[in-house]
Amino acid sequence: MDFYSTQISNLVEQLSHLPGIGAKSAQRLAFHILNMPQDQVAGLSNAMLSAKKNVRYCKECCTYTDDELCPICSNPKRNHKQIMVVENTRDLAAYEKTGKFEGVYHVLHGAISPMAGIGPQDIRLSELMVRLQGDVDEVIVATNKNLEGDTTATYISKLIKPLGIRVSRIASGVPAGGDLEYIDEVTLYRALEGRTDM
Ligand code: ZN
Repeated sequence: MDFYSTQISNLVEQLSHLPGIGAKSAQRLAFHILNMPQDQVAGLSNAMLSAKKNVRYCKECCTYTDDELCPICSNPKRNHKQIMVVENTRDLAAYEKTGKFEGVYHVLHGAISPMAGIGPQDIRLSELMVRLQGDVDEVIVATNKNLEGDTTATYISKLIKPLGIRVSRIASGVPAGGDLEYIDEVTLYRALEGRTDM
């Protein structure tokens, strides 16, 4: 990319590190940014820096939040005895959009994958086990319906069952490995309602 200025090449290079952004998209974005008004570019870069600096993990459920506790964990109207385990904050948002789940969540930030070298210690499982020392009736495992999600569900079930807490798995209907974001709310609601004990 010698025909670009060093500044442009650097911007393209940085953008191409983002997921789903290949060389062509990175170039298109770089030139788009160059054509944006100065204050919009400042807004974009400030939003990135500020989010990175200020967003942290909820002390209770490990989702991303601005405060010590996320809005769901700090809501006394939620059923804190029912915990839905999801792989990431985007999945939490998808279930939350259905507006039907009254319990709270636990965000693992990943799934167990022996192939990728991700073990139980690499996800937020120990934090879940600490929570289960409190008053909990049921853990609903809503990890993805794929190899990693199923492996994680089985592992969690084996850990929790001896504690005498009900463990259930969301029903199928959620496409295998499907991004929950793209699934409609009715499907998610049915998967939740049709959950089975593990
Ligand atoms: Zn929380």
